[in-house]
Amino acid sequence: MIFLKTEEQIERMRAANMLVARTLGEVAKCIAPGVTTLQLDQVAEQFIRDNGGVPGFKGYGGFPYTLCTSVNEVVVHGFPSDYALKDGDIVSVDCGAVLDGFNGDSCYTFPVGDVAPETLALLRATKESLYVGIETAVEGKRIGDISAAIQEYCESRGYSVVREMCGHGIGHRLHEDPQVPNFGRPGTGNLVKNGLCIAIEPMINLGEHQVILNGWKCVTRDGKPSAHFEHTIAIRNGKADILSSFSFIEEALKDKSI
Ligand code: MG
Ligand code: MG
Repeated sequence: MIFLKTEEQIERMRAANMLVARTLGEVAKCIAPGVTTLQLDQVAEQFIRDNGGVPGFKGYGGFPYTLCTSVNEVVVHGFPSDYALKDGDIVSVDCGAVLDGFNGDSCYTFPVGDVAPETLALLRATKESLYVGIETAVEGKRIGDISAAIQEYCESRGYSVVREMCGHGIGHRLHEDPQVPNFGRPGTGNLVKNGLCIAIEPMINLGEHQVILNGWKCVTRDGKPSAHFEHTIAIRNGKADILSSFSFIEEALKDKSI
């Protein structure tokens, strides 16, 4: 069942997503070789709570942390740990927060220090594919149009799309209907309508698309890097209004922004 949101509810969704955006900005300030992913998690949890929110992932389906921190070949759902980031790593930081009864959800993949050019190119293409998906999310299109646009953008550049995980409706609950896969056929799936709130989140691999799943763990089968970017959007006046934001991240990264 898809819950379309009112304008008032969308503004509350925006507030939750702006808290996530500011939290990711705080995390961005900390990303450097030597910093552990658990330190990033602590920064995020403290910031969310200091600003009146509750971490959206902590306790969700038993997930034990505020952030998913997925390094290199880890696709998603990486547990923050005492692993210290190294020069040349990439780390996707996925963050959720609940504020005033609504969920925010957004993810950014950060380069750590000097990253291989082919990996940086993967990050840029994955981020760009997110915006290609968002531009396709207009009234009258279908979810499959968004999926196909992301898939076409990535595969035409030689990357592959993770099949096992996808974007989702979002609102009072973190994961609502409909599912928003990053691959699919145009003209299929639910119609995009005003009031629809979805998280679009391409998970794109440098090598083959296959992943190994084991509990929360999700890694690429070939051990090559995987990137993940996510925005929460609402359809308003027939087109996508991005409720989350990378502006705080990009302000923090300055010239290191991808
Ligand atoms: Mg997320
Ligand atoms: Mg999500």
